[in-house]
This record gives sequence, structure tokens and C-alpha cells, in this order.
Amino acid sequence: MTSLTAEPTTSQEFFFELTRKQLTERLDRNFRATQIYEAVYQQWRDDFGSITSLPKTLRTALGRSLDIRLPEIHRSFDSDDGTKRYLMRLADGELAETVFIPDGDRNTICVSSQVGCALACTFCLTAQLGFVRHLTAGEIVAQVVMAQRANIDPAPDSRDHFNVVLMGMGEPLHNYENVMKALGILHDESGLGMSMSRITLSTAGLIPELDRLTREPLLPKLAISLTGATRAKRDQLMPINRTYSIPQLVSTLRRFPLKPRQRITLEYVLLAGVTDTDKEALALAGIALSIPAKVNLIPLNESPDLDFKRPSENSILRFQRILREKNVDAFVRKSRGTDISAACGQLKQNELTKEIDLEALKR
Ligand code: SAH
Repeated sequence: MTSLTAEPTTSQEFFFELTRKQLTERLDRNFRATQIYEAVYQQWRDDFGSITSLPKTLRTALGRSLDIRLPEIHRSFDSDDGTKRYLMRLADGELAETVFIPDGDRNTICVSSQVGCALACTFCLTAQLGFVRHLTAGEIVAQVVMAQRANIDPAPDSRDHFNVVLMGMGEPLHNYENVMKALGILHDESGLGMSMSRITLSTAGLIPELDRLTREPLLPKLAISLTGATRAKRDQLMPINRTYSIPQLVSTLRRFPLKPRQRITLEYVLLAGVTDTDKEALALAGIALSIPAKVNLIPLNESPDLDFKRPSENSILRFQRILREKNVDAFVRKSRGTDISAACGQLKQNELTKEIDLEALKR
């Protein structure tokens, strides 16, 4: 054994941070890491003592040096539509927000990649927090494991019934290394064994990182947040557009390697009087037709802290019709979990932290 000793250690390493290769390097027998991965990710063991396939001394040593417990759920919220929102307390007290969206066999776990976000999109509440910090790979993996264990039937034929979307707080490509490491851990065949077709990475379009992504062995499905199909509109709504313009983004996406029949999703938030005009619809159609793409229209999830409004049902449908007339596949996304502020763009923990502080004061 290299670094796993029976000596008590002062600081434990977080288990979910370790790739199977890293775990192997800490053990004396190669197959042990595989056994441990299977026990934790497939049999949902949450303490080393219960992994009886391991020798007792090893279980003790592992328990001393690795922390296998999932972070505590600080708060959770249940929506009337079944959506659940979790605030998971991290080692330094920050909160990672995770959303579970049930839908028959196609459940979705929406995870955060950062606390806060640096991109300052004007229609998104997370932006109002600013950038707090990147999440580690283990903190991203732990969100998936936590939401899976809390909501999914553990039987081998149903425990895989979920997809993961990186659409929570943060810009995943701004936290490139940790996100890619987390995807590797989620993909591991001895762990959750998630195929990349079950994982969607959503980005505002960081071009150097998109280029870098094309060279990765593990490529998740890609969603691009467009919201603004002309330069003037997108500059106003997503400041990243002033660095990486729409034509640059489009040419990068045209080079992006796709599997047969696979398409890139363009996410487009509909803001009344701003992004729901005919001019934007026609520009959006032009963009979508120049890439293998489909369009997800997301009517704004409103908040008193945002200066925009959701368009009427009629304008949403009219906008969709213009795209369809141009032969663009365009779908209107149902909002889920709005009553618990769990919908797209509504994750903003500080208002809740305030609420929690008030509750603490009352006691
Ligand atoms: N930073 C990444 C992922 C987080 S945002 C990205 O930009 O893709 C996830 C999705 O929520 C994005 O498509 C974003 O455009 C959308 N969104 C943000 N604020 C919203 C709001 N108030 N209402 C509806 N969708 C919103």
C-alpha cells in the first residue's frame, strides 16, 4: 500500500474526487479499486466497514484516509410537479444546488459546476451572485450520486434511469478540468457507467474550450445557450458575446464532431419584446440551419429580480411557428419546479441563505 496506511490521518481525502486510476495508485492490488468502485457506485455502500469483500484491515485503513460520506443536504424543496431541489453543504460551507426532474424513465439530474457564475447574463439569477468558486470534480460527482440515491430505485435494472445535464449554477467550460474529470468518473464502467449520450453539457459558448472539447476522448452531448440571434441582442443579454461572437461560435459548432443523427441543441430564452421578435426568429432560423441543430425555446422563468418578462402564450407559439416554417426543429420547453425556484436560471442560493439566517435568529 502506498499512501493508505493504518495510521490515523488528520485530513481525509474525499472519495468522490478520485478516479479509479488514482484510487488504484493508493492501493497495493489493482483489482481493489475496481471492487471499491463497484461497491460505492453500484451497490451504494456508504461506509467502508460494510464492504465485506475487502479484508478487514483494508476497510479500516480506507475508513481512516478516505471520506466516503456524501455531503449533508442542507435543505431540499419539493415542487408540486415532482421536481426536487437540493442545497448540498460543501466542506467549506458553500452550497451546491442540484435539481432532480422526474419524468417516467427519463429522469433528469441537473447539476451545478460552480458556485455562482462569472458570465453576467442579464436574464439569469445565478449571474447576480457573481463568481464564488469552481466546484471540484468530486463535488460534481457527489451531486449526481446524492440525487440518484434520493430518487431512483436501486434495483440494477432501474438505477440507471436518469440523464445528467450540466445546466445548474455556473459555466461548465469555465471549470474545464474539473468538469472533464467528473465526466470520466461518471463514465467509469466499474462506477455509474454513464454513456456520454446520457450527459448534456450546456455552455454559453466559450470558444477556446469548445475547441479543446473536440479533442477529448469523452464527448458529452452539447447544448449552446444562444438567447439572442443577432449581435446587438446577444451583446446586450450575454456579455460573453462581446468576446466570442455569433459567427465565431457558429463556425466552431460546424466543426464540432457529432455522431450520426446527433445534433447540437440551441437553447433560446424567450424574453417578451426582446428576443421574441420576427427579426430574431429569422436570424435564429438561419443559425440553426447552418449547423446540425435543434432549438429548445425556454420561456423566461420570471423573478422580481429580473428586468424581463415572459412572452404571452401566443407570441411563444408564433415564434415557434416561424422557426418551423423555415424547417427548423423547435420545441417549447416546459418549465419545471418554478414554485421552488428550481427552474432554469432561477438558482440563486443567497436569497435562501438569508431566509435560513432569519430562521436561525428566530430560534
Ligand atoms: N452556463 C451554462 C449553463 C447554465 S444556464 C449555459 O449558459 O448554458 C442553463 C440554461 O438556463 C441556459 O440555457 C440559460 O440560457 C437558461 N436560463 C438562464 N436564466 C434563465 C431564466 N431566467 N429563465 C429561463 N431560462 C434561463
